Amino acid sequence: MANILDGKKIAAEVREEVKREVEELKARGITPGLAVILVGDDPASQVYVRNKHRACEEVGIYSEVHRLAASTTQEEVLQLIDQLNHDPRIHGILVQLPLPDHIDEKKVIDSIALDKDVDGFSPSNVGNLVIGDKCFYPCTPHGCMVLLERAGIDPKGKKAVVVGRSNIVGKPMAMMLLARHATVTICHSRTADLAAECRQADILVAAVGKPELITGDMVKEGAVVIDVGINRLPDGRLVGDVHFESVSSKASWITPVPGGVGPMTIAMLLKNTVEAARRAC
Ligand code: NAD
Repeated sequence: MANILDGKKIAAEVREEVKREVEELKARGITPGLAVILVGDDPASQVYVRNKHRACEEVGIYSEVHRLAASTTQEEVLQLIDQLNHDPRIHGILVQLPLPDHIDEKKVIDSIALDKDVDGFSPSNVGNLVIGDKCFYPCTPHGCMVLLERAGIDPKGKKAVVVGRSNIVGKPMAMMLLARHATVTICHSRTADLAAECRQADILVAAVGKPELITGDMVKEGAVVIDVGINRLPDGRLVGDVHFESVSSKASWITPVPGGVGPMTIAMLLKNTVEAARRAC
């Protein structure tokens, strides 16, 4: 039976560490600050933004939320970002996605100053990640790496398979594993034989958004399995992209859903914000 990679517990540890780092910075006269921009009234986004704001408050990070109407123009969003780029109280800027259709997401993200892009989504930050330069690690894959690290799992020389190639999870995850010297395969919706690829993995990361897609027969004995997926079933249950029961009987480590990768994402946002403040001073 697999060991549980307890994201809830590890995220709480990270938050405690961040809290101490914030206290140290405050003692030097610097209060880390995060600005979150929310355009429109998507209910899920509102919950995410509220949670981020609350998490900041808990660790002593100054946070301000800019709630803009769905009718806000792209120019107005760009103006606000420009203002925040120049605001010395703000070290990190986060634009909650998705944005309304009339706003060019790429243009908006790209306008965030590189040293304040704590979500790590801008093309320049991603470029730096790919070439191994100083950058902010996107929060969800960063959280996965910290889970591996805290469980004492070194990706070096291991075969890692990442299922999913999104810009926010799959691709940066693959790059981070590569940077830690894993041999990395990226699978996606057009992969010819997903099961065969997954069975090669010493470290398997599922970031797909398909409930329980990865089953026990697709996993090598002793593999480390990280489940990024969050899927709500019609009966209300929350499940990952991994079929927990069958996979946990073969894996050596596995993340649960909920309580695995999920809690790590906000913890890493806090960590990136403190890092941004540290770099600014
Ligand atoms: P996405 O829809 O942008 O990307 C999904 C990827 O999966 C695509 O690259 C696609 O090619 C691949 N895919 C689709 N069907 C496939 C199949 N049958 N076989 C193999 N690959 C397939 O999704 P995303 O934003 O990367 O998110 C993935 C999942 O992770 C979702 O469930 C999302 O809710 C969850 N998520 C969780 C967190 C967190 O904090 N835990 C953060 C971000 C995303």
